This record gives sequence, structure tokens and C-alpha cells, in this order.
Amino acid sequence: MDSTHLVIAIDGPAGAGKSTVSKILSQKLGIRYLDTGAMYRAIGLRALREGVSTSDESGLVALVESSDISFGEGDPQPVFINGEDVTNLIRTPEVAQAASELSTHGQVRVAMVKRQQAMVAKGGVVLEGRDATTTIAPNATLKVYLTASLEERAKRRHLESKTKGMALDYISVRRDIEERDHRDITRDESPLTVAEDAHLLESAGLDPNGVADAIIALLG
Ligand code: C5P
Repeated sequence: MDSTHLVIAIDGPAGAGKSTVSKILSQKLGIRYLDTGAMYRAIGLRALREGVSTSDESGLVALVESSDISFGEGDPQPVFINGEDVTNLIRTPEVAQAASELSTHGQVRVAMVKRQQAMVAKGGVVLEGRDATTTIAPNATLKVYLTASLEERAKRRHLESKTKGMALDYISVRRDIEERDHRDITRDESPLTVAEDAHLLESAGLDPNGVADAIIALLG
């Protein structure tokens, strides 16, 4: 298969397995992987460090505009902001919360989407987030909405936190996911929704490799 022009867009709630599946797809198909959530997290980290409130829309836009966000190769995929490696620093619950709050602002999203579209333009990419299918890549070759029950997603994230040595408690992981989902679904600006032409996939009970194969099969 010629993957050079392929654009696979995946959306879904937190903990549905989007990142794991996207990484496998990028390896199997030999295309790039764009983690759009990592970009919101990188700005969240800067906002926390520099004392910019997540309600200060113009302050946040200024942060986006003064941030060079880039990715490296590897697993976990290295994330850099203005040259600093922030791969692990952006994976804390505090940064996730900040990313969730700041991503509700229309002007912040406009600035982010512009960058993300530039990264997607030349094709050969799998991108995942909350507006990948609806706003960043509405003309994607293939659109997928990946989901699972709240319980299932919380269990996964809880297990993940243990393996990373963070040992968060299950109840707080579940509450965090539920709150972030609610904010993503109810925000005015490009809310998380199932695009009309997206394939709905349930990841519960399936291993990520199986989900990736199911997505490749959809390519025909
Ligand atoms: O996907 P991840 O959990 O890393 O994303 C962090 C937060 O960034 C999400 O909770 C969501 O609010 C926001 N986000 C978004 N649009 C995207 C990707 C992430 O609003 N395309």
C-alpha cells in the first residue's frame, strides 16, 4: 500500500487507547504519528510554570505563539517545547487538567489547529486527539472514533500510572477522566463528537494490535 498521502484521523475520549493504537499504526504503515494532545499538554506545562491562568485566553495564545513544539522518534515519543525535552513532565494529572481547561478557548484552538494542519498537510500521518476528524483533518482518508466505557478507560489509565511509578488512586483517575471528557464534549469550540463519516470502534476487550489491524482493514 502506498501510504505517502494517507491521513488517518482518530478521535475519542481520554484513555480509549488512541495513542497506543496510533503508534502501532504509524509503525505498521510507515507513516508519522501526530499526538495533538501532547501539544495542548506542552502549553499547559508552560502555563503552570509561568503562572498564566487557564482562563486568560490572550495570555495562552501568546504562549502558543512563542512555543516551538516538536516531536522526536521513540517510545514514548519525545516531545520538545522550545528545545526542552518535556516528554515525562507533560504526563502528570496537573498538566492534563491544565491542558483540558486551556483547550476550551476558541483562539487557543485556532492557533493550535493552524500548526496541526501544517504538520498534516503533506500526508503520510496518523493523528489523534479530540478534533482530528472534525476540524484538523476533515478530509482525512479514514476517520475513526475510538471508545470504551468509563470504567474500562479508568482501569487502563490506573494500571498505566502504576507501571510508570506514579501510583495514582483509581477514584481520582476516574474522576479526572470523567471531568476532562465532560469539558471536551460540552465546550462550544469544536467539541468532541463522532464525525458523520467516522467508523465507531469499541476498544474494550481488544488488544491494541487487534484494533490497529481492524483500522488497517478499513482502509480496504
Ligand atoms: O489526549 P490527551 O489526554 O493527551 O489530551 C490532553 C487534553 O487536551 C484533553 O483532555 C483535551 O481537553 C485536550 N485536547 C483537545 N484537542 C485535541 C487534543 C487534546 O482539546 N485535539
